[in-house]
Order: sequence, then structure tokens, then C-alpha cells
Amino acid sequence: MDNNIKEINNNIMEAVKNSNRDKENVELIAVSKTRTVEEMKKVVDLGLVKFGENRAQEFREKHEKFDDDIIWHFIGHLQRNKVKYLVGKVSLIHSVDSVRLAKAINKEAIKENLVQDVLLQFNISKEKSKYGFYEEDLTEIIKEIKDLKNLNAIGLMTMAPHTDNSEESREYFKGLRQLSVDINSQKIDNMNIRELSMGMTSDYKIAIQEGATMIRIGTAIFGERSY
Ligand SMILES: *Cc1c(COP(=O)(O)O)cnc(C)c1O
Repeated sequence: MDNNIKEINNNIMEAVKNSNRDKENVELIAVSKTRTVEEMKKVVDLGLVKFGENRAQEFREKHEKFDDDIIWHFIGHLQRNKVKYLVGKVSLIHSVDSVRLAKAINKEAIKENLVQDVLLQFNISKEKSKYGFYEEDLTEIIKEIKDLKNLNAIGLMTMAPHTDNSEESREYFKGLRQLSVDINSQKIDNMNIRELSMGMTSDYKIAIQEGATMIRIGTAIFGERSY
């Protein structure tokens, strides 16, 4: 795993250099779904402290086994009845894919007297198998969420379609970035879209070239998943 992480860091370095960006502006999130606590602790020893989980129950079980110095990200589709297990415990929910979910998170955050940072997930490719808002719904979404005081939308997230040719992901990453520019140009009160969560093992170099500020990597760190 040590070599895996070194290789990823080298690739990040190369991608930021190619695109005149700064390494400080790209956060590596280790996607630890399906991995054991032991595997994760090895990764912590190698210097990574940001983990991404995609199931609320799995997150809850793992969360208890780590100290507070771990930073948790939630990256999977979230049901409203599970929101209570995440709010205040994860630093960022990447996968807000409906207005109803946004409202449920806001409500729970009010209860816990905190503000929850989130990303809005967009289905740029419009694949039926994927979650996320459609770009056309942007105006409606903003209208619905801009006044949720305990929900702070700090960025956008997307997943590119599965492909063997990572170049094909580029247009979807460009699309997400353009969407962030469009939103910020509207100068909506209290909304500053500054994070772009995009890029996984197969396409993170392309994502960085297109402006990713967070990359979500599982396989390249831990090896192939068995399920
Ligand atoms: C599993 C997963 C990843 C990581 O995928 P790898 O190909 O293993 O790097 C990234 N993002 C999301 C939303 C995931 O579910």
C-alpha cells in the first residue's frame, strides 16, 4: 500500500503541474468501503486520514473504532432515515441528490445545533443507473436549498460513466466545473461553490486537469475490491 500511495502522490503531482495548479488544492480521499478496520489503520499509518464511506451502517461501525483525528466523508446514496447517523459525524456529505434529502439533513443539523457541509451530486452523464440532480433542474434546486440555514453547500460532485478510456470522462468533469462557474456567477447569498469532488482510480488524473479539488480513490490504494 505504501507504494500505491506514493504512486498516486506522484500522479497527483504530475497532473497539477500539467494544469498549473497547486497540490495543496487537491485532497485525496481514501475510499474505504468494504475494507477492514485493519486495512484502514495501515493507511492511517502511511499518512492518510480522510476516508470515504458509502453506506451509513458501515460508517457507523467503523467510526467507533477510530479516534477523532480521522476525517470522514460520505460518498454514497443516502436515505433520509439514515441522515441522523451521519450529521455532525462526517465532515462532508458528497451525495446530496434530492431536495428532500437536503431538507432532512438541514432538519437534523438544526436538532444538533450545527451546520453540515455538503456537496450537490449531479448526474452530468444522465445515466439511468446513477443518482444525482440534472443540470436543467439547477434553478429549482437552488431556490429550494438556498435558505436552509444549517446546510452549507460548498461544492459539487459527479461520477463519470464507467469506461476503459479515461479520456472519455473529461467532458463530464468539464461539465461539472462549468456548472460551478454558472452557480457562482449567480451570486446567490451564502452560497460559494468551491469544491469539485470528481475522479476515481480510473480517471483522477483527468479530473485534476479539469479542476477537481477532491479525488475519491479506493482501488488504487487498497487493491481490487472483492465485492
Ligand atoms: C467506490 C467509489 C469510489 C472509488 O472507486 P475506485 O474505482 O475504487 O477508486 C469513488 N467514488 C464513489 C462514489 C464510490 O462509490
